[in-house]
Amino acid sequence: MKVMVTVKRVVDYNVKVRVKSDGSDVDIANVKMSMNPFDEIAVEEAVRLKEAGKATEVVVVTCGSSASQDVLRTAFAMGADRGILVDCPTVLEPLAVAKVLKAMVDKEQPQLIIMGKQAIDDDCNQTGQMLAALTGMPQATFASKVVIEGSEALVTREVDGGLQTIGVQLPAVVTTDLRLNEPRYVTLPNIMKAKKKEIETIAVDSLGVNTAHRLKMLKVSDPPARSAGIKVDSVAALVDKLKNEAKVI
Ligand code: AMP
Repeated sequence: MKVMVTVKRVVDYNVKVRVKSDGSDVDIANVKMSMNPFDEIAVEEAVRLKEAGKATEVVVVTCGSSASQDVLRTAFAMGADRGILVDCPTVLEPLAVAKVLKAMVDKEQPQLIIMGKQAIDDDCNQTGQMLAALTGMPQATFASKVVIEGSEALVTREVDGGLQTIGVQLPAVVTTDLRLNEPRYVTLPNIMKAKKKEIETIAVDSLGVNTAHRLKMLKVSDPPARSAGIKVDSVAALVDKLKNEAKVI
């Protein structure tokens, strides 16, 4: 079983991004970039499937500039076999990414596609669902457990108020939730080995996919600053405020 994993290069989750002074976007010049954390979980799951003898090959795909090679190399250091960079001169919206990934699915014919449930930069949570729709594959989103049984994947999903287990026929799209696994730390020897691996680069224009932008960013602004808290002298005063001012009890 060939597994395809999609990985996106995003601002590192430890970085506090700043809004540009003209409110046109966030300023990502000179900030640390990393693999989207949900995609790290996706790579880990695919590598574990390979280690368990369920998968034969793990192919990672990213759409971005040549800088995105670094997230493919991180995936190599974790145990991925092959990496494809779809070289895109501009940042793509989720629908365009899904169309590009559909072209990659047609080329690679994976049995399982593992993606992050969302990218932490745009928080769209759309690409996996769109890819499933474009390919006609079943989807199992927000996975916290994946078991491969023959031609089926049994996926436990994190839903409001509990867990839901569904069976999807392969090939299928699975998107990862936080509790699926804890990604391994990459070791120095593996990082060194990953540097020497070949990356296949495909120009997005060669795929014949319409990647035109459909959304226009109107404004980006900081969330409102929180006002300072106050101290009350007694439980009675606290209850009074919760009842009469905050009106939460
Ligand atoms: P989103 O719908 O933007 O929240 O992204 C959901 C998932 O789609 C991510 O966790 C990635 O696995 C995948 N994805 C989104 N954008 C890209 C990209 N540029 N390259 C590769 N994978 C992507």
